[in-house]
Amino acid sequence: MSDSSRSSIKQLDELTINQIAAGEVVERPAQVVKELVENSIDSGSRKIRIEIEDGGFSRISVIDDGHGIPKEELKLAIKRHATSKISSSDDLSTIVTKGFRGEALASIAAVSKLVLSSKVKDSDGFSITVDNGSIGNIELTGIPPGTKVDVLDLFQKVPARLSFQRRPSTENAAIVDIAISLALSESEVGIIVEIDGRIVLECPPCDSMEDRLYDLFGSTSSKLIPLESSEIDIQAPGEESWEGWISPPGVSRSRSDDIHILVNGRTVNSGPFLQSIKRGYHTRLMVGRHPIGVLSLNLPTTEVDVNVHPTKREVRLKNSWRVLERLERSIKYTLSKISTQPELKDLTILEGINSLEEDENELDNFIPSWAQVGNKEKVQTHFSSIRTSKNKVEEQKVKSSSNDTQQQVLPGLNPRPISQSLSSAERSLHRFSLSGISISPIDEPESGASVIPELPEMTVLSQFSNSYILAEGDEELYLIDQHALHERIRYERLRSSMVDWSPQDLIIPISISLGARELSAAKSNSDRLLELGIRFSESNDSIVIESVPDVLVGDTGLNDFIHDILIDFSSQPESRGIDTVEKLRDKVAFMKSCRGSVKANQELSLAEMRRLLIDMSTVPNPWACVHGRPTVLKLSQNHLDKHFGRHG
Ligand code: ADP
Ligand code: MG
Repeated sequence: MSDSSRSSIKQLDELTINQIAAGEVVERPAQVVKELVENSIDSGSRKIRIEIEDGGFSRISVIDDGHGIPKEELKLAIKRHATSKISSSDDLSTIVTKGFRGEALASIAAVSKLVLSSKVKDSDGFSITVDNGSIGNIELTGIPPGTKVDVLDLFQKVPARLSFQRRPSTENAAIVDIAISLALSESEVGIIVEIDGRIVLECPPCDSMEDRLYDLFGSTSSKLIPLESSEIDIQAPGEESWEGWISPPGVSRSRSDDIHILVNGRTVNSGPFLQSIKRGYHTRLMVGRHPIGVLSLNLPTTEVDVNVHPTKREVRLKNSWRVLERLERSIKYTLSKISTQPELKDLTILEGINSLEEDENELDNFIPSWAQVGNKEKVQTHFSSIRTSKNKVEEQKVKSSSNDTQQQVLPGLNPRPISQSLSSAERSLHRFSLSGISISPIDEPESGASVIPELPEMTVLSQFSNSYILAEGDEELYLIDQHALHERIRYERLRSSMVDWSPQDLIIPISISLGARELSAAKSNSDRLLELGIRFSESNDSIVIESVPDVLVGDTGLNDFIHDILIDFSSQPESRGIDTVEKLRDKVAFMKSCRGSVKANQELSLAEMRRLLIDMSTVPNPWACVHGRPTVLKLSQNHLDKHFGRHG
């Protein structure tokens, strides 16, 4: 800053202070919802209704049946640092309410038009309106006992903030997430979410946590196991204790969104706990998959500082290290009591389980070491490291090829073949290959496509390590990653054959039981699903699939598809880049190609390998799998001769 014109120090006015605070407390509509619902919970409500219009940007209403705010306190309620929940800093160490900072209503009112209406028992109802900080008069209003807060035109007068907002559909999903986490923390409170006139989440008040879990996770909830601690742990020093539910290893999710952490009943960011949870599962979870968990930490209020974050999403624990270790041990202990290999018959395809494939999938995620940057001198070590550097490779990021970067090959080899660049959306779909049954290449339709003269005629020599096909052709030795190749072939076949996306009625409609998040995603994305040829009707906690596109007719992984698509819809749609129908369709092709492919560590017959090579010759870009990883390594006779000193 220039030093020529110094401004004098001034005390900021209240509106400015509130707008600054709003930057932290209510950064987006979902946070407004969180603050309002927390207020409703704090007021002893039994039923809370959340209504959203236009992602919350036009209207957020939260209606409760709590004890209300008396007329004479309405003005105070919207003042900054005015709260009924604490009276001095001493109370900070014994907080049991969700709120205590007294700044939510003031902050929200500074960046929207807020109408606070409330009625306490044996009195009339009154309301007060605050329009972007300017406070109106108190008026008589007819409402049932409780409180109603309407937040209109959020951020409309704060252009700087507005321009950073995400799309309404993203906000809707975030709002549903908030509602889910609050519903988990207060099972006895009923919560209803209505988005643009449609009820997308409905959790009636529950007597037991099991019922609430059912409302939120659907039939999956019956598979969750209660967290237990060993006797030694129960007796260990420290007053903290963990309880809750975790999923068995066979039930997993593609994201960590379904891990919910509560600290003394307060939903907090799960981030700091994820590592411990992961360690608790150790190798029992597939790489890239996440468990479901509702984990509740109870400890004396004096051992947790809740006043470290404006949105209270983070807390500080006095003995965080001990608390985390305890969580890890409890998870280990709980899992140790269930059999290593969940019985497949118990598990539905919906969860995308494939416990039997755990090892394959792990392997699946590695880049073969020879595809890593080569060491110019020591060719041999690269060969040996194919098998031995598993752990090392695990740490390295999957290298994605692009148009200008060349794949790394052994020194001295032709740096071609090069895989075409693939979009990040394509690559992000890798997780879909982690589940599903593989289909033998022989059982697939003949491609019918003509041979593309990019490859010589090849003869299969053998299979190596049940994962690579060894073939020769034109004086060159080919090492082919069977899974990657099959994926590519399946993808190309689908892309060229998938033309009919019109819904085909199923003779027997398929009912799919969904969790709350998926259910709400289904309801609010029915048009997009229809464009994919998927039509469904709703019934309680399930959807009944009535028609699917041709390509999905008879697909045993249909449940899986629907589930995964819905999870994607519900999480940050635009960042996943699946806005357009075209992309969605491509995604279905990807999922389908990934799922059906033969896996690593799968023995293939000679016929199957031959078929893969025949199909390979018809694929336009056989050098990379759909995720951009290489499929083939080529070693020329010339090169081998050189290596073995056969050339002068
Ligand atoms: P805090 O929740 O941190 O106290 P808020 O700004 O969110 O601060 O709310 C200010 C006060 O308004 C609360 O302390 C509470 O007394 C009152 N209040 C807000 N919402 C409600 C509600 N839904 N029901 C009853 N009282 C409410
Ligand atoms: Mg509050």
